Amino acid sequence: MAPNNLNPGGFLFRKIIVLLTLVISTATLHATKPVPDAARTGYEAIDHKDMESLLKFIASDELEGRNTGSRGLKIAAKFLQSQYELAGLTPVPGQTSMLQPFSVIESRVQESTSLSVRGTNAGSQFNLYKHFVVLSKHSHDVHMTYPVVFAGFGLTEEKEGKDDYQGLDVKGKIVLAIDGSRETIQSESGARSIQRKLRTLRQAKAKAARAAGAAGIIYLRHDLTEEIMPMERRRVDRARQRLAEDPEDIPELVAGPEVISAILSGSDWTADKLVAAYTTEQNEPPRVTVADIQLQLDIVSLADTKGTQNIVAFLEGSDPELKTEVVAFGAHYDHVGMNDSGDIYNGADDDGSGTVGILEIARAFAMNPERPARSLLFVSHAGEEKGLLGSKYYTRHPIVAMSETVAQLNIDMIGRNTPNAIYIIGSNFLSQELHAINEAANEMVGLDFDYSYNALTDPNRFYYRSDHYNYAKHGVPIIFYFSGVHEDYHKPTDTVEKIDFVKMQKVARVAYLTAWHVANLDHRLAQNGLLLQSDIAP
Ligand SMILES: [Zn+2]
Repeated sequence: MAPNNLNPGGFLFRKIIVLLTLVISTATLHATKPVPDAARTGYEAIDHKDMESLLKFIASDELEGRNTGSRGLKIAAKFLQSQYELAGLTPVPGQTSMLQPFSVIESRVQESTSLSVRGTNAGSQFNLYKHFVVLSKHSHDVHMTYPVVFAGFGLTEEKEGKDDYQGLDVKGKIVLAIDGSRETIQSESGARSIQRKLRTLRQAKAKAARAAGAAGIIYLRHDLTEEIMPMERRRVDRARQRLAEDPEDIPELVAGPEVISAILSGSDWTADKLVAAYTTEQNEPPRVTVADIQLQLDIVSLADTKGTQNIVAFLEGSDPELKTEVVAFGAHYDHVGMNDSGDIYNGADDDGSGTVGILEIARAFAMNPERPARSLLFVSHAGEEKGLLGSKYYTRHPIVAMSETVAQLNIDMIGRNTPNAIYIIGSNFLSQELHAINEAANEMVGLDFDYSYNALTDPNRFYYRSDHYNYAKHGVPIIFYFSGVHEDYHKPTDTVEKIDFVKMQKVARVAYLTAWHVANLDHRLAQNGLLLQSDIAP
């Protein structure tokens, strides 16, 4: 481009030309490959306007925030079922309906819950949300009295390289364990990432206590003061759900210094001294015996069993052999419902965007003249906001066997943040081949793939926080498409008018092309990822 032989427009005109060329070249630079003819009709059918129309209903106030077990979610299920049928999808062969019903138990620990410490030196009662919180969910009240055993950090071998249960008989007793780890105790306790780390460690400790036959576990949180209590309370003082088929939780509590000092009253230890002994580098942390103390737990829990459903829609593949295998899409069509003052959490982005995204992809595959060799499965999960319950239930009771599920593409929140960028999480964990296919598909669309959260050690733990995780735990290679949290995340302000539908169209098109490619492979995806299944679900 010779700059000065241009017409009198002169410098400004040349500037504009240069800029335009740059934009055009950049655009073409991003989307460098043509879409295969065989997939083009479907590809072009993926339309931002369709998704906008669908989302206006899914995220409308009339669905009351689509809480699991609610009327709003039931209506959403009927709507999605009819839309899948309209598009030409069916239940999985052998099934009479696309709806996969399952039950959850919704419960809330009541403020009349109390805890008493009885012993020669102690006799005191403690109150919920003042001295302790109950993390466990209970489908009925618990009125029990237990002896207490101290188990250090309460972790087994592989986590801390030391088995705190060695030589301890905790059967039928309450385990007292120091909350967190040296790392969390020595760091600033309010930080979100530390809170998340605490929760992960508690999950491991509850598992270890249960495996050792303990009747329950109490985490010693020496800094559970008035400032910290609201942070703990916020997570548990609400209606929470678990799968009805899951075993009842053992009591799991976090207790502050007053409770701990009462429990330790028969020994020379206090909460602070014990934590200090366990956090300062030294050879062997002390063995502490909690003498003749009885802990009386009176947990009052209001509970209710609710029915809900996943939606499982099927599109048969064209190859007589390979059509028994499926490429699965997932999104969660539930959200958090309404708060106590009736504010509706519309969940337009979370996960209305994924819910209408996979529906639009299903319509696209059904409209495409050529069917891929393998079949396609579209699972709209319920209960995601309650702990990935719908995908936990589905992967435990799969309509198409997990062994026949060659990949799962999970879409959760794709309608916000940077217009042309999307986070890709987990694509190379179990299969580098899947990762490469996704990259190649993107050469036809031109999004910026951001891998910032693509690690098991990511402090945000996004890999563990949506439904793909339950499929990955069963060894299914997954890709998680995610556009990141934002100021309206889990707020009543996560509404339709803020959604970037053009971005959603691009993400849906990449996922469509990736699935198209995997569904037509003449072999199973190579399980040549960075991780083994055992790394994902230790
Ligand atoms: Zn979500």
